[in-house]
Amino acid sequence: MSMLKGIAASNGIAIAKAYRLVEPDLSFEKREVTDVEVEIKRLQDALLVSKQELEAIRDQARVDLGADKAAIFEAHLLIVDDPEMISPIKDKIKAEKVNPEQALKEVTDMFISMFEQMDNEYMRERAADLRDVRKRILSHLLGVKIVNPSTIAEEAIVVAEDLTPSDTAQLNRKYVKAFTTNIGGRTSHSAIMARSLEIPAVVGTKTATDEIQDGDLVIVDGLKGEVHINPTQEAIEQYKKEQIRFEEQKAEWAKLVNEKTVTADGQHVELAANIGTPDDLVGVMNNGGEGVGLFRTEFLYMGRDELPSEEEQFESYKAVLKGMNGKPVVVRTLDIGGDKELPYLHLPKEMNPFLGFRAIRLCLEEQEIFRTQLRALLRASSFGHLKIMFPMIATLNEFRTAKGILNEEKQKLINEGVQVSDNIEIGIMVEIPSTAVMADQFAKEVDFFSIGTNDLIQYTMAADRMNQRVSYLYQPYNPAILRLVKMVIDTAHKEGKWAGMCGEMAGDEMAIPLLLGLGLDEFSMSAPSILRARSQILRLSKKEMEDLAKKALQMSTTSEVLEAIKTTIK
Ligand code: PEP
Ligand code: MG
Repeated sequence: MSMLKGIAASNGIAIAKAYRLVEPDLSFEKREVTDVEVEIKRLQDALLVSKQELEAIRDQARVDLGADKAAIFEAHLLIVDDPEMISPIKDKIKAEKVNPEQALKEVTDMFISMFEQMDNEYMRERAADLRDVRKRILSHLLGVKIVNPSTIAEEAIVVAEDLTPSDTAQLNRKYVKAFTTNIGGRTSHSAIMARSLEIPAVVGTKTATDEIQDGDLVIVDGLKGEVHINPTQEAIEQYKKEQIRFEEQKAEWAKLVNEKTVTADGQHVELAANIGTPDDLVGVMNNGGEGVGLFRTEFLYMGRDELPSEEEQFESYKAVLKGMNGKPVVVRTLDIGGDKELPYLHLPKEMNPFLGFRAIRLCLEEQEIFRTQLRALLRASSFGHLKIMFPMIATLNEFRTAKGILNEEKQKLINEGVQVSDNIEIGIMVEIPSTAVMADQFAKEVDFFSIGTNDLIQYTMAADRMNQRVSYLYQPYNPAILRLVKMVIDTAHKEGKWAGMCGEMAGDEMAIPLLLGLGLDEFSMSAPSILRARSQILRLSKKEMEDLAKKALQMSTTSEVLEAIKTTIK
């Protein structure tokens, strides 16, 4: 048995066999072959296995993901069977005496570049299909395994170098019991998604993919940030007990689902949830969310090949607003960029994607995308209590321009006779230090602030939130961060506005006492954290937390602050 230490990214304990989600090595050399018949037989075998595999994946996808997701595998099957594709490969092997790998590459390269040059969007997508199928056939020729997260069909713990948010969205929760990655931090989006999916995760282990083989028995301890590989029977038994204890604790918290969140000295704060899609509403309800404090709409744009239409978006926003039954829903406009990519936008690669062309910067430039989203939101506004917020605002001008565009779309809809709520609050994420510092000016113009500490901490400390080597600098309790948070809350209150927080800090057990003391009005977190936070806040006195916050603001290091929190709440 061996153990890896990583960052505890999502609570809970899972025990299952490992499934490595690792890009295979599909490199090969061109070579001259002597027995052409043997090589053609190798190609035919690879085609046959690919076909059988695709049929099985398609059937499974129909059951788990629905007919339209399964259709993509139907298209792949047509390629494997297409004589116009296969015959030239065989001809090449015969005529040029090259190995099937090389013949496959040359013929498919020719078709791919032909498809890619066509004007027709449909044909360009066929190029992507062909690449996928080629990879599958090649993997069988070379005898290496290719992986696809959506096709995992037995209980497993996913082991990967990293998971993109769209990989994470495709994980089938029924089978994927946990995941562990080499890189990433607590606020990388795969970690955030693991928390809303309620699957345990340990990220930033550095070496998980080197040390864990397919089929190894693995324990992921998302409470301590440990991964145990091929544990002893004794360790397994002990962890099974831990699992039960964790479930019992959750059952205790569940009793608070319909309670209000009021401190021991009678102050109410709002506990809201962060969501990514309308499907997450079940979790918000089951965990007693008093609202949605952050709807990360970019997830509606992921795991697909084109932008969602206004109509599709309208249906999603309407579903969330109606589902929340009049409770507030803060929808954040598209925040693409950083670790959240949309391949179909074909944006150029950047040196520093977290500092690049993203979020509101992209929306103000690509206004059609922005306007479509705003129209969908405005049309949905009459179905519930909508608040809109813009991400990554760095200057007042950006806010004014974004709000101007929103108002233009609103007026157009009203002129068209569409019903739009006249009661929509417009706010911003405070996640860039310039905005925190200028909060007094912003507070005069916005209706609310939501502090995005995931980014605010990375930008203030100049420490990439994805990079585990600098994760020691991800310090929510650093007095520098606390002072910025205080400035934002105080300036909001001075102008009669409210201040919330939707970064991961809002759900952090150690940070909650401080945030309460700093006067935060709304705490928005992954739904499964809400009941634990409520149980904690019910026991805290706001007055005492104010004293704690006051002292913390004058301290000089994170560890002093942490010590002070521990002594106050113990
Ligand atoms: C944040 O930056 O704190 C935030 C909530 O946004 P995201 O994590 O999506 O960047
Ligand atoms: Mg952010």
